[in-house]
Amino acid sequence: MSLRIAVYPGSFDPVTCGHLDIIHRAAKQFDKLIVAVLNNTAKNALFTLEERQQLLRQVTGHLPNVEVDGFRDLLVNYMTHKKAHVIVRGLRAVSDFEYELQMASANQKLNPDVETFFMMTNPKYSYLSSSIVKELAKFHGDVSDFVPDEVAEALRGKFG
Ligand code: ADP
Repeated sequence: MSLRIAVYPGSFDPVTCGHLDIIHRAAKQFDKLIVAVLNNTAKNALFTLEERQQLLRQVTGHLPNVEVDGFRDLLVNYMTHKKAHVIVRGLRAVSDFEYELQMASANQKLNPDVETFFMMTNPKYSYLSSSIVKELAKFHGDVSDFVPDEVAEALRGKFG
């Protein structure tokens, strides 16, 4: 039987405890989980693609079936290249739903073999986003409950 490979795509600018929770849980469900950092030009990123990947590698290094990669291609093309059939996405609130439905439907149309799996946020992190964390860090707020130590350190490096 072929390996069940899933891709968890996102900006991860930077990775938060909410992302990490999804990564831990998704890694248990698949043979291999590829955390794929989108190199999107539309969003003004705080961390470079390399920095975002580096932080993800640091915080997922203990998970043997998790791989960190970057992509700039159309997601479904990237999936074909990686021989992956499942996209993992996290849902926090109703407000996530509309966008996620649109993306999942578009991807389903582009490649009917690709299935999107949604995982509900851990209620502990339902309010947590990379944007909130950046906003807090910018004003020197305490982010230690929201991101792994390595990320808190990297944020201090950006904002002083
Ligand atoms: P994108 O720009 O593609 O939305 P993000 O890095 O913001 O990338 O998020 C990647 C994925 O992780 C999305 O599916 C998002 O809904 C999910 N996610 C982000 N924060 C959380 C959280 N606190 N709990 C659960 N899922 C989350």
